[in-house]
Amino acid sequence: MFCKKCGAETTDDSAFCPKCGQILNDTKQQLNSNEKVQGGMQLLVMIASIILIIVGAVSFIGTCS
Ligand SMILES: [Zn+2]
Repeated sequence: MFCKKCGAETTDDSAFCPKCGQILNDTKQQLNSNEKVQGGMQLLVMIASIILIIVGAVSFIGTCS
């Protein structure tokens, strides 16, 4: 990516421009996308545990009758 202030090329993970010291705002966007991924993972874990509970309940009822 390139610095918005001076146009110098910077690495993707750098928080500041190495040439002029301009703060690169993209780190904030990366944090937001990470939060979205974590939220998606939590939802996936929730769905998986619900399925496990249903499967467990069904097998429990199956063994009883
Ligand atoms: Zn710069």
